[in-house]
Amino acid sequence: MFRLCASYVLLSLVSLIALSCEADAKKATPREKKQTSSHGHEVSVEFLAGKFSPASDTSFTSVPNKYSTRRQYIAKDTLQAFEALAKEALHAGFHLQIVSATRNFVTQRIIWDGKFNGQRKVGGEDLSKTLPNEAERALKILEFSSMPGTSRHHWGTDLDIHALEVKGPALTNATFKSGTGLKFYTWLVNNAPRHGFCQPYTGSPQDRNSGMKHGYQEERWHWSYRPLAAKYLAAYEKNLQALRPQGFAGDKAASGFFSDFVSNVDTSCKSND
Ligand SMILES: [Zn+2]
Repeated sequence: MFRLCASYVLLSLVSLIALSCEADAKKATPREKKQTSSHGHEVSVEFLAGKFSPASDTSFTSVPNKYSTRRQYIAKDTLQAFEALAKEALHAGFHLQIVSATRNFVTQRIIWDGKFNGQRKVGGEDLSKTLPNEAERALKILEFSSMPGTSRHHWGTDLDIHALEVKGPALTNATFKSGTGLKFYTWLVNNAPRHGFCQPYTGSPQDRNSGMKHGYQEERWHWSYRPLAAKYLAAYEKNLQALRPQGFAGDKAASGFFSDFVSNVDTSCKSND
């Protein structure tokens, strides 16, 4: 009887230890590891291509209501830097707003596929009819929208910024070329870099980075949190083969030039390493 009881206790003990080991092993998997501030996100091909949900990712948080009129997500480190910038902007008379923060692969695909297949008009045109050549059509869409899997907005580091005081459409360069819009843009150029922000899409793509034929047009509203984004860009460029476009309309046609759109950014947004 004692022997039976002793073996039962031993057996229970062994299974308890086994259970607790399993629990420890679960805790230790990198996927579930809590992200700590200032290190950013674990760099995987899936993350770089925006194939994750920022709503359930521990290194992301929602943008506070005072900066956005809708629910959006942002990398925690980016938000910390943005709030410091916003505080300073307030002293200069500008209430910062985030028009667009993180957009993942799925969100970007909805925009892209709609434009590619003609459900969403581009400049009033159904591109599936006016540009039957897929590569030409992709390049037309790329004047204003990123391909899914290639947008810096996937990373939680890039923001389309506006201010309550600035009248005029937010995603239009002309808004930032005169009056209060120009004052605001000049203020950002002079102060945002001190908080880690750079402007990836300056001037014309041909002048921005010699040797690259393609790239986005100037976007005075688009700012990037460089300490994280430069790291992600470097990782992206190292993994181009694995990041070739796939899973959306016209992906094959776009594979010849997608890397130019990712890499052709202002040198102030590149890594120093
Ligand atoms: Zn943007």
